Amino acid sequence: MTPICLVGIGKIAVDQHVPSINGSTDWDLAATVSRAGSVAGVPSFTDFDDMLAARPDIPVISLCLPPVPRYAYAAKAIAAGRHVMLEKPPGATLAEVHALADMAQKAGVTLYTTWHSRMAKGVAPAKAWLADKTITGAHITWKEDVRRWHPGQDWVFAPGGMGVFDPGSNALSIITEILPMPIHLQSADLMFPANRDTPIAAQMQWTENVTGEFDWRQEGPQSWDIMVETTAGTLELHDGGARLVIDGTEVEAGADREYPALYDRMAALIKTGASEVDLSPMIHVADALTLGKRIVVEPFDF
Ligand code: NAP
Repeated sequence: MTPICLVGIGKIAVDQHVPSINGSTDWDLAATVSRAGSVAGVPSFTDFDDMLAARPDIPVISLCLPPVPRYAYAAKAIAAGRHVMLEKPPGATLAEVHALADMAQKAGVTLYTTWHSRMAKGVAPAKAWLADKTITGAHITWKEDVRRWHPGQDWVFAPGGMGVFDPGSNALSIITEILPMPIHLQSADLMFPANRDTPIAAQMQWTENVTGEFDWRQEGPQSWDIMVETTAGTLELHDGGARLVIDGTEVEAGADREYPALYDRMAALIKTGASEVDLSPMIHVADALTLGKRIVVEPFDF
């Protein structure tokens, strides 16, 4: 088993990373770094430099921090010769992830920009079904309650937190994976709460008749749906990619194991000496923030 260090013991580390590592025969959770969090029975550090100096036996670092602080940790890890796995979205800017990819390549270590929603069980069969179809349009509906899923996480509304594009990048990671042709943004309306620096909702229009609505103010039923119209029928992904329906018929696609699959992939990348750096979902976020019209809406507080 390969020793791995988990950095940033917060919501996603506890919900997904720790159980996925512990459930794998590839990995041994050998240390954590967090100012406040820890994992029972695992040696914990509060300072990343101290961990790097004390544990040269740990070759892989998985960074579960929010995007803004993540770059500095990734750069230090690569400089210390460690392989690095990045939570999504992989950075606060595109250029900093390009810089990390360059550093990793020069250092001969693996860099993996994970996109967990691409591992949802309906995504691979959806991609396979769409590969030879003529697409006539697609629509993303990504509406959830930020108070329920990110309680008190003010970083999502701070610069670099990306607002509704934090979960929205999950939809963008799926659409960029399954469509057989590239799309680019043509217009966007971005709803910024009067007291916040990132959007709480967005309406997007891409080429190829692809549209999307993203909203973090959704109470009641939550929607993580993508519908793709083709000349050969309609494909629907529901529940964030876990459910696939083709022309009204549910397609059974096996067990859902998003985060375990990310750790399998990291093990395979290290074995072959490869990196995987895909910024295509984040390009659409950056384009929305470049091209989008800013609309001020009522203030938001948790
Ligand atoms: P979180 O709980 O707010 O933060 C994770 C941990 O990062 C915190 O516990 C904190 O640990 C550390 N941290 C936060 N700000 C920091 C800073 N400025 N400097 C150093 N460490 C800092 O966030 P999360 O929900 O786990 O999300 C983390 C990443 O996972 C995000 O990119 C998010 O998009 C992604 N993600 C989240 C979810 C979800 O459901 N929440 C799902 C999928 C992916 P210490 O204070 O103990 O150091």
